[in-house]
Amino acid sequence: MYPELKLFIGGQWRATGTDLPVVNPATEQEIGRLPCATAGDLDDALEAAENGFRVWSRTAPRARADIILRAAALMRERQEDIARSITLEHGKPLAQARLEIIRGAEFFEWDAGEAMRTYGRVIPAAHGHKFTVHHQPVGVVAAFSPWNFPMSQPARKIAGALASGCSVILKAAEETPAGAVHIARAFDDAGLPAGVLNLVFGTPSEISGHLIPAPSVRLVAFTGSTTVGRHLTTLAAQHDTRVLMELGGHAPVIVCEDTNIQAAAVSGAIRKMRNAGQVCTSPTRFFVHQSAFDDYAARFVDRARATAVGNGMEPDVEMGPTANARRVPMLTALVEDAVAKGATLATGGSRSGETGYFFHPTVLLNVPDTARIMQEEPFGPVAVINPVASLDEAIAGANSVPYGLAGYAFTNRADYIDRLVDEVEVGNLSINTLEASMPETPFGGVKSSGYGREGGTEGLENYMTVKNVWHSVHIN
Ligand code: NAD
Repeated sequence: MYPELKLFIGGQWRATGTDLPVVNPATEQEIGRLPCATAGDLDDALEAAENGFRVWSRTAPRARADIILRAAALMRERQEDIARSITLEHGKPLAQARLEIIRGAEFFEWDAGEAMRTYGRVIPAAHGHKFTVHHQPVGVVAAFSPWNFPMSQPARKIAGALASGCSVILKAAEETPAGAVHIARAFDDAGLPAGVLNLVFGTPSEISGHLIPAPSVRLVAFTGSTTVGRHLTTLAAQHDTRVLMELGGHAPVIVCEDTNIQAAAVSGAIRKMRNAGQVCTSPTRFFVHQSAFDDYAARFVDRARATAVGNGMEPDVEMGPTANARRVPMLTALVEDAVAKGATLATGGSRSGETGYFFHPTVLLNVPDTARIMQEEPFGPVAVINPVASLDEAIAGANSVPYGLAGYAFTNRADYIDRLVDEVEVGNLSINTLEASMPETPFGGVKSSGYGREGGTEGLENYMTVKNVWHSVHIN
């Protein structure tokens, strides 16, 4: 059920001398061995990607789109196989893994369409002169994808790169390599020319330290923590290399007094526990109008407690384990710090069970601003619910962190919505829903949540350069 893991370089699958265990976070059992790339493998990947770029950048956009769509269709056909390997390596419920495969395919399908719409323009000029603006693929992309969505995170980066005419070397997350392996298989089977997509694994700092300084690498595309993103941005700047950074978030949810409190509380609790809270857009800091606070908190806590936690392979499980051993002590420390500073622990707060990296769905109430969790992204199934006296106070709370990725609000008041749109500092604001993005909408952050956008009509801009051509008909 779990695929054999290999590097994919220059159109060939390759094993290596060194490998690391891949562990099922629900059982702590080894399910595969991850091959680690050597410096020689990385040099081969660079050479392959340079050759791939020469071929792919000259391939007609429609032909590129055809191959991307064929690969996406294969991923849809293989949905069950891919979903099962993702649940094994990541722990998320199988039903959620299945949806992730569809979302990944949609990213490819959207960008395949956009490949044919990277229009330039003609600028009016004097007679005998032509000014034309061309959008051209930037070159080889070094991409780094995280472990929270093993299929759809690599899909976003590969889709943008390939649709634009770039070649790519992807380092997928060590903990969850199977999603990227399945994507590479689908492209191999769909007839992608050799070297256009290359897949490597290994020690992250060694791989980024080797690839980013390479002269042929023209874009670094990363999704992960702000700390690592900052490090890679600094490295890229030393080589004048562009970056696309999708970094951390710490999403606020503003619950106004006019909303349906029961519906907002239930949807908040369900959404918070999705993917065990390991989502950069996960709703975490809930600012609830004081007149509705008690009711909202009670309903939220009831629904959080009712979450069915277990091995994602079992039917009806709503939340699996956290994805790796690091998460449990990290979450425990954040909860203990909040309680020590005066927060009320309404439910959860500790590891669940003896085996697997399970953490109880957790709700903290009345958390003081001095608690670490008010500034640090928990990236786990932990919600903070605090009362606020006014919309002013809620917006100030929402904007009080260095992050600005997703933000949410529940209200039908037009005057409130007008202010929220103008004043909440995020790249993605959702009103009366906790969905944050679709393939056709631009996704990305402000402040320390990153630079650039993925998806939407903006998504391919990161992967393209703008060239202006001044063509004079006569020599002058
Ligand atoms: P981390 O910062 O150690 O690693 C995050 C990711 O970056 C991993 O995939 C890792 O392989 C990669 N990475 C780390 N060092 C690297 C380097 N020098 N070069 C290239 N890649 C490198 O954190 P973690 O413990 O794995 O995850 C916890 C934090 O990561 C969370 O708090 C969250 O902020 C962030 N995260 C964000 C997203 C997202 O979707 N934005 C996804 C996963 C993790």
